[in-house]
Amino acid sequence: MDISVVIPLYNEEESLPELYAWIERVMHANGFSYEVIFVNDGSTDGSWRVIEALKEAHPDTVKGIKFRRNYGKSPALFCGFERAEGRVVITMDADLQDSPDEIPELYRMITAEGYDLVSGWKQKRYDPLSKTLPTKLFNATARAISGIHNLHDFNCGLKAYRREVVKNIEVYGEMHRYIPYLAKNAGFGRIGEKVVRHQARKYGKTKFGLNRFVNGYLDLLTLWFLSTFGVKPMHIFGFLGSIMFLLGFVAVVMTGATKLYDMYAGNPYRLVTDNPYFYLSLTTMVIGTQLFLAGFLGELIARNSQERNKYQIEQEF
Ligand code: UDP
Ligand code: MG
Repeated sequence: MDISVVIPLYNEEESLPELYAWIERVMHANGFSYEVIFVNDGSTDGSWRVIEALKEAHPDTVKGIKFRRNYGKSPALFCGFERAEGRVVITMDADLQDSPDEIPELYRMITAEGYDLVSGWKQKRYDPLSKTLPTKLFNATARAISGIHNLHDFNCGLKAYRREVVKNIEVYGEMHRYIPYLAKNAGFGRIGEKVVRHQARKYGKTKFGLNRFVNGYLDLLTLWFLSTFGVKPMHIFGFLGSIMFLLGFVAVVMTGATKLYDMYAGNPYRLVTDNPYFYLSLTTMVIGTQLFLAGFLGELIARNSQERNKYQIEQEF
């Protein structure tokens, strides 16, 4: 099979028939063999009935997954990826903001140009300013932290992947915003971008509020931490802990030495415990020890992790 289209959706009943018909038109015009996987993320409207009707009309190309409740876009993508059989996997939002007309070119970039992942770039967006402005900031940060400097639009719903990519990354929580970063960490570094047409939402309304930006930053920090220190937490906690402990230790010794010196030299002096630096040093040493302990605990956890020896082997003889 050439292409699997994975569509996560939450309350998008109005868009689905139109979206499916459009995808079908594009696929037929280009002679692709394909499947469309609808992942119904606990919709409370009639979305599932629409999907059932589509399945009835097109039993060979439509697949459906129905969650019992709303889990979020990432879990929906994860389950769609597990089902996907196509050589190229394309994800697309259900709200008709992404155009299926981009599919042939995305497919070509993966198969002919050798990209692992191609992300859409909504260069001209039809979204309110309250969304486009923070998005710019968000993408700049994501570029800096992930080191993927050629992407303008991390969170575009329209993306294409080589099959191995989606089978080897684990999207969870709200990590769908950082799939390119996940892919890069899994060793799929050929990441490209294609300018795509974007349209205003035709039916329904957006499912994400402004808290997406707060959570987005926290997730980015998590990913950065996991990819840098995930299997060697001691390297960060041990390092910080040692520095703090040493600083505190040196400071406390100096506090004592200064007092002894002043005492024997006949200068005015005060008790070590009257010196504010003494307490600062103590605190620093305590925090340093705590950081060190966090490192050891982290190592114990990492030792038990399923991931600790999971590597992406590309070839083997
Ligand atoms: N979506 C989902 N589960 C959710 C929220 C959203 O499957 O909990 C789907 C939604 O139906 C749409 C896609 O994710 O197909 C993108 O959502 P939306 O269009 O609301 O995001 P925006 O375009 O505003 O970023
Ligand atoms: Mg949308």
